[in-house]
Amino acid sequence: MQEADLTIVGGGLVGASIAWGLARSGAKPLVLDGSDLDLRASRANFALVWVQGKGLHAPHYALWSERSAREWPIMAEALLEDSGVDVGLVQRGGFTFALSNEELEAMRTDMECIAMETAGRAQSFEVLNRAETRARVPHLGRDVVGSVYSAADGHVNALRLFHALHIAMDRKGVTYRPNYKVDAIEPVDDGFILKGEGFSILSRKIVLAAGLDNERLAPMVGLACPLKRSKGQILVTEKCKPFLPCLSPTIRQTDEGGIMIGDSEETDTASIATSSDISAVLASRAIRIFPALADLNVVRSWSGFRVKTADGVPIYDQSVGGAFLVACHSGVTLAANHSLVVAPQIAASRLADDLSPFSARRFHAQAAA
Ligand SMILES: Cc1cc2nc3c(=O)[nH]c(=O)nc-3n(C[C@H](O)[C@H](O)[C@H](O)COP(=O)(O)OP(=O)(O)OC[C@H]3O[C@@H](n4cnc5c(N)ncnc54)[C@H](O)[C@@H]3O)c2cc1C
Repeated sequence: MQEADLTIVGGGLVGASIAWGLARSGAKPLVLDGSDLDLRASRANFALVWVQGKGLHAPHYALWSERSAREWPIMAEALLEDSGVDVGLVQRGGFTFALSNEELEAMRTDMECIAMETAGRAQSFEVLNRAETRARVPHLGRDVVGSVYSAADGHVNALRLFHALHIAMDRKGVTYRPNYKVDAIEPVDDGFILKGEGFSILSRKIVLAAGLDNERLAPMVGLACPLKRSKGQILVTEKCKPFLPCLSPTIRQTDEGGIMIGDSEETDTASIATSSDISAVLASRAIRIFPALADLNVVRSWSGFRVKTADGVPIYDQSVGGAFLVACHSGVTLAANHSLVVAPQIAASRLADDLSPFSARRFHAQAAA
């Protein structure tokens, strides 16, 4: 049997951020990853480093997201140093556009609620009417009645981020093994035995970062990771000259020129196929916000399943035997926290007390109530 001191199961955005962070803390983790045909949220995302609206009725999550956005420039610089790859981080703020007064009022209510629940410590925001929005955003459509703006929001180049993390991991001494799907985990006296096709590895400490498969793996180490299906679909247009200086959670121009349009959510399907009905809704809403988009061709469309809990808040957990669990939507936004905050805690074998509200025990408490 092979042996390892620390093994991360999953090499997506979450596993890679933690592996790189651990390597920066002096550890030499082993990463066991699945295969290219796995449903990977990390390959499907919209690339936002987004804080606005996160953490309604979960102030710890609002502040956790805000902290990660603040740490992102430090992470981007460290990644550049370790990988030589610039991930294209831009944090010039973001607008959520409203197409009706009801939408705008609902957004205002949520933002005010988050501000109250965090005792004013969450990022500040402005609710802008149509004229105020138009003064800041060019090419705006007639149907936009207003927006919410906050300065902390930004985006990156998601594929370069993934690439950078894997280069940095490699250069920092992480051992990465693709096509090493873990089928079973057995807790033993001195750690865990990870078993898959053709391998058996004894690891003293493990981190479960297997995306959707965390739900199956977590109970094997005495933890829980209840997840729900949440499919998102994205459209990408042909490249065009920079015309969208602003960013929104549904429309953004990439550093390479294409416009990404997204933010659908389907919870009742197991099929990964894209749907033309969803594409039509996404495109029509985007054109109402920016009519000039009607002149662009869509060149690609894809969908992916989010790694999402019932309340949308991440799970960070630790078992008595030395297993850690990380499952989250918003793995781009939270990448800075995962590499700069969570990884050093895992290296020290203890998650900080301020992560305890993120434990999946919250779901047992809700079920018992
Ligand atoms: C449509 C969409 C849009 C999104 N937009 C954003 C956004 O704008 N901003 C943002 O912050 N986040 C966004 N996200 C979320 C973000 O992409 C995810 O939070 C993140 O990718 C999750 O990464 P992960 O590593 O947990 O999961 P995954 O990417 O699914 O990776 C899991 C990895 O584990 C491996 N694996 C699975 N099972 C096993 C096993 N048994 N043994 C070994 N390896 C295993 C898989 O092969 C895979 O490599 C979006 C997601 C979607 C789907």
